[in-house]
Amino acid sequence: MIIVMRHDATEAQVQNLVAHVHAHGFRAHLSGGDERTVIGVIGHDPYSLRDAVADAPGVAEVVRITKPFKLSNREFRSGDTHVRVGDHEVGGDHIWVVAGPCSVDDEEVFLETARLVKAAGAHALRGGVFKPRTSPYSFQGLRGDGVEILRRARQETGLPLVCEVLSAADIDALAEVADVLQIGARNMQNFSLLSEVGRLRKPVLLKRGMSATIEEWLLSAEYILSQGNYDVILCERGIRTFETYTRNTLDLNAVPLIRELSHLPVIVDPSHGTGRRSLVIPMALAGIAAGAHGLMIEVHSHPEAALSDGAQSLTPPAFKELVDRLAPLSAALRKGVAV
Ligand code: PEP
Ligand code: MN
Repeated sequence: MIIVMRHDATEAQVQNLVAHVHAHGFRAHLSGGDERTVIGVIGHDPYSLRDAVADAPGVAEVVRITKPFKLSNREFRSGDTHVRVGDHEVGGDHIWVVAGPCSVDDEEVFLETARLVKAAGAHALRGGVFKPRTSPYSFQGLRGDGVEILRRARQETGLPLVCEVLSAADIDALAEVADVLQIGARNMQNFSLLSEVGRLRKPVLLKRGMSATIEEWLLSAEYILSQGNYDVILCERGIRTFETYTRNTLDLNAVPLIRELSHLPVIVDPSHGTGRRSLVIPMALAGIAAGAHGLMIEVHSHPEAALSDGAQSLTPPAFKELVDRLAPLSAALRKGVAV
């Protein structure tokens, strides 16, 4: 349930309601919208409070949110959430591009890739150091040594870092160097990990599980928001279907649907979404055309030597080609097409 305050409601009226909500054993979440204050009432059966608060001073209306996801629901915030990463507002008018190798596998190669993606126009750098691999015999990431390499790359390029956290035990080490913590597809329903990153005040990039419905994905975001961390960026990375020519099927329905259902920003990862280098650029452009706020692209300066996901990694020149094609596309999308 949300309590929508009147435009002229005073801070004291808001605080009175918050105290009332707490006194009845519910949690209150205030939305930061400019136009009006909204109090999200979270807990079991919050609608039982309706009659007691509907006529309280300063209240404009009480709205029952019938969908199971509440704080990520578009009704909770009038505008889009903007998540600040470095100089960029993810979820605003400008496309956010994260690029870099699947995993950090060699210091020189990582630094070379980092310089090249920066020169091509990336806003943030990615590179996993704890890798969730299907086989326990595959490369698992450089772990602690990798964290040091990330630190050097961040220092040298000045690019914010996006890095996957696999378990709660790694949060502290990674949070110190990463600007955004990524929760991967395989951990989308690791509820204790979601709650842990919800306690941080650091942006979280939440990938969609490969068999997760959109509602399950938003409920996972809800675990993070309900702990007080509202800086969540959703990432569509493809779902499992019967198709075998591609690694996954990039579900572009999800992009406009998320924008309809939620105020959270949503980006697209066509690298895991397709698994094939040749499909990455067209599907990246399609993702932006569908309304995504950004892209996550795997790029490796020597993809043939990559220890993970080389086949879906763009070379730096191909990445540059993609970035160069984004500006005219976004201009065309915003201005419409002349006929
Ligand atoms: C990754 O980003 O390298 C990754 C493992 O992605 P996903 O969790 O989407 O498979
Ligand atoms: Mn990968």
